[in-house]
Amino acid sequence: MLRDRVPVRSAPEIRSAYAAYKPTLRIDFDKACGYCDTPDSFLGGKSVYHVEHFAPHSKFPLLKIAYSNLIYACPFCNRSKSNTWIGSDASISHNDIEGFVDPCSVEYEIHLDRSADGRFLPRTPVGAYMIKHLKLNLIRHQFVWQSKKIRELRDNLRAVKSGLSAKDSSYLQLLEAIDELTILYDKFRDQIVDA
Ligand SMILES: [Zn+2]
Repeated sequence: MLRDRVPVRSAPEIRSAYAAYKPTLRIDFDKACGYCDTPDSFLGGKSVYHVEHFAPHSKFPLLKIAYSNLIYACPFCNRSKSNTWIGSDASISHNDIEGFVDPCSVEYEIHLDRSADGRFLPRTPVGAYMIKHLKLNLIRHQFVWQSKKIRELRDNLRAVKSGLSAKDSSYLQLLEAIDELTILYDKFRDQIVDA
C-alpha cells in the first residue's frame, strides 16, 4: 500500500507570504512529505521541511501564495523536483506519459505503489516519471518505510503481550526481548518528533 491516508488541504485565511502557511500545511499533510510520505520527525523536524510549490512559482508567479498549490515536502523531494513542469499551463500537471500528480489527489494512488521493502513502484508511465524526477527511490525513503513497519510490529507485539497471563511466562519473556530491540529506535524518534 502506498500510504495510510490522502492529505486534505484545509482553507486557511489568505496570507501575504507562502511561508506563513507552513504550520497549517504541516497539519494538513499529517507532518509528512506529500510526495515520499516521510514523517518530518525522521529528518530533523519541521524546520527542515519546505513549503513546496506544486506548479513552480518561478513559472507561475500568481500561484506563489495560492494554498491550493502548496505541498509540505521534505528537502529531498523539493530539491529533486525543483522547477520541473511539463508545458506552460499551470492547470495541466501531467499527460499520459509524464508530469506530476498532486499528492492531495486520490489519483496519486493510481500512478504509484510501494513494494514490501518500501521501494516506490510505478503503476503508470507518469508514476515512473515521478519516481525519476522526485528521486523517490533514494535509499533513505526505504529506511524510513522499514522503520515505520518496525514501529507497527512493535505496537502489535505490545498488544499481544497485554493479552497474555503470567502463566505464559516464556511468551512474555520472548515478547519483552523483542520489545527491547526497539527501545533505542523509540528514544531517537521521541527526541526529534517535535523539533
Ligand atoms: Zn519527500
